[in-house]
Amino acid sequence: MSLPKTADAAYQKCINPDCAAEFDCGQAIFKCPACGELLDIRYNWDKIEVPAKLSDFGKRWANRKNPLDFSGVWRFRELINFCEDKYKVTIGEGQTILQQNDLVAKYVDMKQGCLYLQYEGLNPSGSFKDNGMAAAFSHAKMVGVNSCACASTGNTSASMALYAHSCGMKSIVFIGSGRIAFGKLSQAMDYGAKTIQIRGDFDDCMRLVQAVCTKLGLYLLNSLNPFRLEGQKTIMYRIIEGMGWTVPDWIIVPGGNLGNSSAFGKAFYELRQLGLIERIPRMAIINATGADTLTDLVNKKKMLWNNGKVDQKIIDDYYADLTARNFSPHTCASAIEISRPVNLKKCLRAIDICNGVVRAVTDEEICDAKAIVGKYGLGCEPASAATIAGLKHLRAEGIISADEQVACVLTGHPLKDPNVTVNYHKEKQGEFSNPPVEAPNDLDEIIKLIK
Ligand SMILES: [Zn+2]
Repeated sequence: MSLPKTADAAYQKCINPDCAAEFDCGQAIFKCPACGELLDIRYNWDKIEVPAKLSDFGKRWANRKNPLDFSGVWRFRELINFCEDKYKVTIGEGQTILQQNDLVAKYVDMKQGCLYLQYEGLNPSGSFKDNGMAAAFSHAKMVGVNSCACASTGNTSASMALYAHSCGMKSIVFIGSGRIAFGKLSQAMDYGAKTIQIRGDFDDCMRLVQAVCTKLGLYLLNSLNPFRLEGQKTIMYRIIEGMGWTVPDWIIVPGGNLGNSSAFGKAFYELRQLGLIERIPRMAIINATGADTLTDLVNKKKMLWNNGKVDQKIIDDYYADLTARNFSPHTCASAIEISRPVNLKKCLRAIDICNGVVRAVTDEEICDAKAIVGKYGLGCEPASAATIAGLKHLRAEGIISADEQVACVLTGHPLKDPNVTVNYHKEKQGEFSNPPVEAPNDLDEIIKLIK
């Protein structure tokens, strides 16, 4: 099955060490055709002119009139070098902020100057997904497709729809008839995606979107697309940049489909391989308790990457049990409401690379942390706040010290999911609820309330 790879700087490689099949980057296959495992993008670094030190990338900012130098993804293009510049797609993604935040630090019992929030909500579609879409759409252009599709009710569909119309492609979003995040879906409709609502659940959508993509030659943009993860590596480069080209002690990231954690582990592995960093930070991945497959598999079942020889039986048994119990994940953090994470094995690899830990936090903890990020930071969607709630746990356990440098990845904008925010405040659901005050239609009474 394995097709010969070209002598290019990049190629695709199956992550299963017993298979290790390699494929040209000119193919859109998304799963190893030989064994069905996930694919990685690998680089022949000796064929790429990588800057001698990371701070050299900072010089690009002076040339930001060039859209590729302005892009927070393509500014680092030598580290994601799978296509020629003429195919690269950018809509100005990655102009994000690494905010040092002492008031949120206080909430999680950290010392001043130690906590940083990487705010990905500033991306054009309001979430980190734009980093991955810039890379994946560049690949889509390179392979010459003109239509794409994904199954999603969330940030993926919003980001895909925006990039699709920006580069003149048709896009199709598959949604199920179950829980639908309308705040996010509204973006996909507004950006012109064709939305197909299937009488079925998300698993049905996922199965059908793959079948439709194969039949009609559409480009699949769900997170098993390895090119998306290449773009998401740049979130780590920008954290390092924001810290003056130094590496933090910890990265904390929400855990849903596990694309980000997978990408971040790969980013650090490659940076060290290239001699661009001396040490790899530790990583904490935070699940919601209502969707905590990774926490169970790592902490209870002791699952390990094991040099790629992952114990598939543990995963199969776990998923069989979920099916037998008719389990459906449930959390207010819809972006991480996933019980069969697509990138599980790559995430296990990232945990191995980054000496990672996994924790799960309750919806109550997520909503309280979200209110704190809103009150003292730039706000975020519920899934993002899982990082702050998780950090609070790790501080209480003494796993993270008060004086370590910690960067939490806030994946999405607060307006992505306004219902959770409104309910938390209006229904006085938590300690930090800030509901509107009812006032009579009377000046003096209103003044009394404000004083
Ligand atoms: Zn394979």
